[in-house]
Amino acid sequence: MLRALRQNGALSRGEITARVGLSRTTVSEITGELLARGAIKVVATDAVERVGSGRPAERLALDPGSGQYMGIDFGHRRVNVVVADAAHDVIASGTARYDESAQWPERLESGLALIGRLSADTGVHYGALQAIGIGVPGWGDRSPADGVAELFAERFHAAVIVDNNVRFAGLAEALHAQSETVRDLIYLRLSDGVGGGLVVGGQLVRGSQGYAGELGHVTVVADGAQCRCGKRGCVETVASVPAILARCRELGAPVDGVADLRAQVEIAHPAVEQALREAGTAVGKVLGAAAMTLNPSEIVLAGEVVTLAPPLLQQARATITYELSWLTDAVPVIRPALMSDDGGALGAVAALFHESPLLDGYEANLTTDGGRRWP
Ligand SMILES: [Zn+2]
Repeated sequence: MLRALRQNGALSRGEITARVGLSRTTVSEITGELLARGAIKVVATDAVERVGSGRPAERLALDPGSGQYMGIDFGHRRVNVVVADAAHDVIASGTARYDESAQWPERLESGLALIGRLSADTGVHYGALQAIGIGVPGWGDRSPADGVAELFAERFHAAVIVDNNVRFAGLAEALHAQSETVRDLIYLRLSDGVGGGLVVGGQLVRGSQGYAGELGHVTVVADGAQCRCGKRGCVETVASVPAILARCRELGAPVDGVADLRAQVEIAHPAVEQALREAGTAVGKVLGAAAMTLNPSEIVLAGEVVTLAPPLLQQARATITYELSWLTDAVPVIRPALMSDDGGALGAVAALFHESPLLDGYEANLTTDGGRRWP
């Protein structure tokens, strides 16, 4: 019904009935619900075209200002928000920054202020929100974002799902891939930490406890550097942005932040090249093993460092290709992320469109987890 309204603009109930092949009673019930929740509105009557007597029929249309789905991604330094209408089109989006040291109350306040600002700036309203998808760092019980779901559910009277923001970003990559819908994809993001997400057989995979895709803590260096997870030598200790920067300095390159890194990549500083090759090799080995496990059609590497320091992706690609060299037709497309920083918020919204074939069964998984809710 919503698709018919999107394609045709305003329609009367009779015209909707003719297009969607449902009974008049059913159409009347559904339009009643859609009107009540503000997804559609009465825009006119067909009185002008009408011949003969009888009450003019109302014409119904999507309400262009009615936010129906909201995706929020709380990162370490910023929050992104996207709002989609009933037809799943994004009608508002924005970003607010906070300091890395900001605690959760401050981050939430910042997110809520952004949501308010988006409404003021674009005229989008949230009175009819159906569902909110919230991406947070961390997984399941280990997420620092306790109580976030309750807060948003109460504030907006909408269903809320909370999941890892990197996983949501992986879903967004699968949905926005240039090829047809990608059914098998491994996503790895290199930033302050290293996190991943898996789309397997057309489904976003959470695993039995919600930790699927946690590739950042696979051990790649025996007795390597201490990782924040408590182990030593994880991928994260070699390929996270802080780890890469530290390794550059150790090898003698003057690199304080990613801007310096970019400058040194441009002049091909050998120490920086080496650090990037080491990171790319570590990432490539783990992704090569994951590719042997899952046989994906695409591997996506995300994170600012991937775009500004090409030797890293080159090396990862070379290592993955080597790992799979005995199965040359198994080498997947290995590419940088298409989504910029708002991938997590877009993925969170996508996760709400449960009719997406990529999410078959995903909703069922969510309802089994006490930390997530669908009414
Ligand atoms: Zn670790």
